[in-house]
Amino acid sequence: MTGLPARGLRDLPSVDQVLKTPFAAVAVERFGQQSTTRAVRDALEQARAACRTGTAVPEPSDLAANALVRLKAAERPSLRPVFNLTGTVLHTNLGRALIAGEALEAMRTAMRDAVTLEFDIGTGRRGERDDHLRALICDLSGAEDATIVNNNAAAVLLVLNTLSLGREAIVSRGELIEIGGSFRMPDIMVRAGAKLVEVGTTNRTHLRDYLSAIGPTTGVVLKVHTSNYRIEGFTAEVPARKLSAIAKERRVPLVHDLGSGTIIDLTQYGLGYEPTVGEAIADGADLVTFSGDKLLGGPQAGFIVGRKDLVAEINRNPMKRALRLDKLRLAALEATLRLYRNPDRLAERLPTLRLLARPAVDIAAQALRLAPALCNILGDQFAVDVVECRSQVGSGAMPLDTLPSAGLAISHQSGSGQALETLAAALRALPVPVIGRIEKQALRLDLRCLEDEAGFVTNLATFSPGGSADAMA
Ligand SMILES: *Cc1c(COP(=O)(O)O)cnc(C)c1O
Repeated sequence: MTGLPARGLRDLPSVDQVLKTPFAAVAVERFGQQSTTRAVRDALEQARAACRTGTAVPEPSDLAANALVRLKAAERPSLRPVFNLTGTVLHTNLGRALIAGEALEAMRTAMRDAVTLEFDIGTGRRGERDDHLRALICDLSGAEDATIVNNNAAAVLLVLNTLSLGREAIVSRGELIEIGGSFRMPDIMVRAGAKLVEVGTTNRTHLRDYLSAIGPTTGVVLKVHTSNYRIEGFTAEVPARKLSAIAKERRVPLVHDLGSGTIIDLTQYGLGYEPTVGEAIADGADLVTFSGDKLLGGPQAGFIVGRKDLVAEINRNPMKRALRLDKLRLAALEATLRLYRNPDRLAERLPTLRLLARPAVDIAAQALRLAPALCNILGDQFAVDVVECRSQVGSGAMPLDTLPSAGLAISHQSGSGQALETLAAALRALPVPVIGRIEKQALRLDLRCLEDEAGFVTNLATFSPGGSADAMA
């Protein structure tokens, strides 16, 4: 060790000296004595390392300020709101559906108060948690009965485990899907205890393929809505209605996994066609499974709707208990489904539908309003252009149908990809991270999902190119 840094080290203030400063008092008030002391020690540790490399000895108040920044950073929640400007409305990594105000209110009540979760007010006896949703979803889908679990993956798992444990589950090779993350239909089937029997080929499956596969040890015929891709060209698939006829004849239940599962016809909102739960039931599926947080616009959940006797069997499976829904999501789902009873106001009250149905002209007008502000903030190294773009529904719904939208394309005058990466990182470092997408030498912000325009502008005001804007906030 050289003389100079050693002298620096000796001159470092003590923990007590730092704790006597006004900044430390603020920190103690807000974060407590113990956390503040620990943060001061960490700040001192950092300063000691810096002094060894020749940095000047900091004042006690500098060290306290450093400790305060550390405490604030540590306090920031890990699960944080962001501006989803990716152009994907139901973005799985960004939490899919935004739930309606009515559903939020219902969740608050269910958290704050004791509720009739499994209690029948009429008889004063034990009730069923699914009862709160059964009548609503049956009414909306035409199904006989319903049960609800943690998510659609759980719904598929539970249905297969109940109907085809140790038996065969027949599925077309064209429908053995993988849906992001690790949801692969064949894996789920095996874990459910079913013996997977693949029929047909990737592009063509015929009725005779199913007919020759169904036998005495068949537990279930599974039809999967290929929600996140489409096979085009020389193809053949057996429609649910035809499949249901032979399943009935052979007395094997037909299960239709719809995935996104809308309960209303979305074409009335200018969106692409997506088969509804009611249609799947009407086409003769014995059970239909679908998600709560995709097109339905509710919290994460998995619905199983259909034949009463099969739903009863599912409810007797001990796995149902392990996969059941909690009271918060039940409350949110009940409120969400109630919104569907008034279709006239649905697009205004249900955020998912509101965003999906948002007219491109509205979005373009917003882009024109925001472009100058963004241009100002980013400085003359960047160009900001108002552009037309296409949004996606996301979460597997309508994979090929995109929605006309508008947004801002930010490019760097040097054409440098690195500059765009740095900019994207700086936008992610804002108090409310702004998430866009880099494509064709521009950082693209699709404004379809931007509802809080004022909040967006306020947030941008703290932009710093280095990306550390919020450290001192
Ligand atoms: C999304 C999807 C699932 C999984 O649903 P989660 O609610 O995400 O568990 C299953 N099947 C299909 C066809 C899907 O699109």
